[in-house]
Amino acid sequence: MDLEKYIRDVPDFPKQGIVFKDITTLLQDGDAFRLALNRMIKKHLDEKIDKVVGIEARGFVLGGVMAYKLGCGFVPARKPGKLPYRSKREEYTLEYGTNALEIHEDAIRAGEKVLVVDDLLATGGTALAAAKLAEMLGGQVVGIEFLIELGFLHGRDKLRGYPVHSLISY
Ligand code: AMP
Repeated sequence: MDLEKYIRDVPDFPKQGIVFKDITTLLQDGDAFRLALNRMIKKHLDEKIDKVVGIEARGFVLGGVMAYKLGCGFVPARKPGKLPYRSKREEYTLEYGTNALEIHEDAIRAGEKVLVVDDLLATGGTALAAAKLAEMLGGQVVGIEFLIELGFLHGRDKLRGYPVHSLISY
């Protein structure tokens, strides 16, 4: 099954010049959704992952399923101000301005093996922030998993040192 054909390109969203990779067309197809997740999970079955860190919001959908299948915990990395309890924050640079991710400070214990999950790797700033948050809590990031990678943006360079996987590359 060619998963690429389940990804919808939406030009000029959320702003002019950006081609948004819409994964809702994959999520709404039961067979494509299951196949994509099975492929994302397969490489990590023997890694004894303790926590999957999913990045808001599409990383929650993928990461939640992965944690369930791996039999480990799920930790949300959220946009600022969303988490109710004491949190750690990591800021990162966007094309214009900055953004940040937060994680509950008791979400990961020292030495735990962490897998970071998001739908798409663009410049890599978001995933790097999530990895740094996991490390701030003493976690060991053993992998970063994406459904889609925009290779021409060279996000992997920013994530050098981490094992990075993606299913679909553009
Ligand atoms: P980056 O930090 O540049 O790697 O951006 C990755 C984050 O932005 C992910 O959470 C993606 O969901 C989102 N994102 C960036 N570019 C796109 C795109 N072209 N289509 C869909 N999502 C995108």
